[in-house]
Amino acid sequence: MGMKLLKAKVRHLGTEENLKILTRIYEYLKDRLEIRHRTKVKEIIVENQQMKGIVLENDEILFSDHVFIAPGRDGSEWLANLLKEQGLTLTNNQVDIGVRVEVPNTVMTDINEHLYEAKLIYNTPTFNNTVRTFCSNPSGRVVIENHSGVMTVNGHAFKEDYEKQFNTNLALLVSHHFTEPFNEPIQYAKYISRLANMLSNGNVIVQRFGDLKKGRRSTEKRMKKGFIEPTLKTAIPGDLALVLPHRTVTSLIEMIEALDKVSPGFASEHTLLYGVEAKFYSARPKLKNTFETEIKGLYVGGDGAGVTRGLAQASACGVVVARDILKQK
Ligand SMILES: Cc1cc2nc3c(=O)[nH]c(=O)nc-3n(C[C@H](O)[C@H](O)[C@H](O)COP(=O)(O)OP(=O)(O)OC[C@H]3O[C@@H](n4cnc5c(N)ncnc54)[C@H](O)[C@@H]3O)c2cc1C
Repeated sequence: MGMKLLKAKVRHLGTEENLKILTRIYEYLKDRLEIRHRTKVKEIIVENQQMKGIVLENDEILFSDHVFIAPGRDGSEWLANLLKEQGLTLTNNQVDIGVRVEVPNTVMTDINEHLYEAKLIYNTPTFNNTVRTFCSNPSGRVVIENHSGVMTVNGHAFKEDYEKQFNTNLALLVSHHFTEPFNEPIQYAKYISRLANMLSNGNVIVQRFGDLKKGRRSTEKRMKKGFIEPTLKTAIPGDLALVLPHRTVTSLIEMIEALDKVSPGFASEHTLLYGVEAKFYSARPKLKNTFETEIKGLYVGGDGAGVTRGLAQASACGVVVARDILKQK
């Protein structure tokens, strides 16, 4: 059927465990270096292609020959503009746009029990689009992610929720590649996400798969008839076909129907689709294998530089950069 299962090791820590890990990292570091929370970097200072320091939002200047910028997905647009101003070479990655799907755990039992998460890739028959599954959360909850005022959806799972939550959520993402003359993929994805916000009064949309296929919006009444209790209570029932391009919707429908063969029940009319889920990692600068840019001493990494797409990789990226800086000291 043309669906590929990628080999990947997955370890579920749980949202609450992440907080404990971050607290331990903070406790270890806090007396060894200066950490400033809620402090925004505005600009960088470069002289003769050599890093000199950074300027904070309050105009305070911090001097350093080595700077590592990892602003996450939310800061990816800021970083791309910053690097463009410095004349650096940026390549436009794809941008991924899709929905978060929510089904009962019972539909996903085989995958949840044997793999926890299946990383599946599918080339759709009609438009030959690549659609992939991403960030699956057995017994999870769908949440809203606020990208500086643009509301998108995401999902997570608490370890302690395992017996208390009854739905699995996962993202289905359609890769969008752009060619000349357009080179603003982040703006494109944000525009689409804003459209969903506009139609749901600043919120995100939820739609039953059956309604999407019938070409009608979901309403409160139709949602109440559904068999799945949405975990994101604030999502507004609506019509994702008014938000996503026809090609994206068709590819998502084909992916859901293909997944129904892997996990029967996945393409039920009651399956919930939340939109929009978008991954904004986009412009990737030219980098050495140590993540140093064409400017000496300026390193960029993590999700915001289009380098990583997850916690383990983003953390490893930081370790590589730190080791390289230490080598040069
Ligand atoms: C709801 C949710 C669930 C997720 N679940 C998983 C999961 O199960 N597994 C997984 O591997 N990944 C998951 N992820 C993704 C994971 O969180 C990211 O891949 C990872 O955090 C990326 O790390 P990063 O250091 O690149 O960026 P971030 O963790 O986003 O950190 C970037 C930091 O930079 C700050 N910043 C931005 N701009 C500036 C600026 N101008 N000045 C100063 N600071 C700035 C931001 O405020 C932020 O604190 C999830 C993400 C979300 C939102």
